[in-house]
Amino acid sequence: MNTRHLSFEFFPPKTPEGKEKLIHVHRKLSELQPEFFSVTYGAGGSTREFTRDFVLAIQAAGSSAVPHLSVCADEKSSLLTLLHEYKDAGIKKIVALRGDLPSGMGGPKQLIYANELVSFIREHFGDSFELLVAAYPEIHPEAESYEKDIYWLKKKFEAGASRGITQYFYNPDSYAYFIEQCQKVGIEAPIIPGIMPITNYHNLIRFSDSCGADIPRWIKKRLHQYGDDIDSIRDFGLDIVTSLCENLLSNGAPGLHFYTMNQADVSLSLCKRLGFLDADAKH
Ligand code: FAD
Repeated sequence: MNTRHLSFEFFPPKTPEGKEKLIHVHRKLSELQPEFFSVTYGAGGSTREFTRDFVLAIQAAGSSAVPHLSVCADEKSSLLTLLHEYKDAGIKKIVALRGDLPSGMGGPKQLIYANELVSFIREHFGDSFELLVAAYPEIHPEAESYEKDIYWLKKKFEAGASRGITQYFYNPDSYAYFIEQCQKVGIEAPIIPGIMPITNYHNLIRFSDSCGADIPRWIKKRLHQYGDDIDSIRDFGLDIVTSLCENLLSNGAPGLHFYTMNQADVSLSLCKRLGFLDADAKH
């Protein structure tokens, strides 16, 4: 039986049309029976209502919805209100993050590290939610050192998180080494690789620069060479990402979390290639 973890991430739609379209994407991906769909929380709480609205919509549609949450721009009281709403709606898991502050943002600002948010949720809600946290095989861009980043990751688990999801990467060795280093310091929680499908050269470069994800030179060169030929980029991306996922799964990764960019087709194709549609699959 296939028991590999599978989940999909969306960013929240901001218009009724966008919402309808994304519900359709969610329906298509539901065919793969993922464990959950997660919904991001815009930097500084900028999508608070949109995130909540879409989380509640997919939960109401019968899926397990997992909101991302950070504290940057929220008063603790409004955070508690939101968490109570999630609890009442039957939400069982949360991705707890420090998040980033958008530049030039006014209003109350506080950077609460993710381990503190995990403690805060545990303190107020006990075991009502499973808490997942972010992990960085290629190191968080602000980390003091590789060791320190793993030290703080361990603190998130000690505070009560039970699983990690990684920033995306294209070099499977970075994940293997990271897991080895985590195990050396006693981190035993499953750390699920985050997978970014490749569909657009310019967006990928821009996004990777800002989040500190490395795109190997040979992949960059190849993508650059394809220019605006989106079919070739898509085919190449499918091959590269399929082989990355195969490598990760065959080396013991607990499953995969897809950054869908709100598109169904590429994630569906990847999952089909990886055998996630087997008749007896259970995720
Ligand atoms: P933390 O774990 O708090 O770490 C932040 C930095 O501080 C690291 O360099 C760490 O080494 C250091 N550190 C950690 N704890 C301490 C401490 N107690 N004292 C001193 N230093 C410390 N961003 C969004 O805006 N919205 C989202 O929905 C979102 N979802 C994400 C989902 C995943 C799976 C991932 C991998 C990232 C996501 N991000 C999201 C990006 C994330 O918000 C940023 O990477 C952010 O800069 C760090 O958040 P964190 O929870 O990893 O922070």
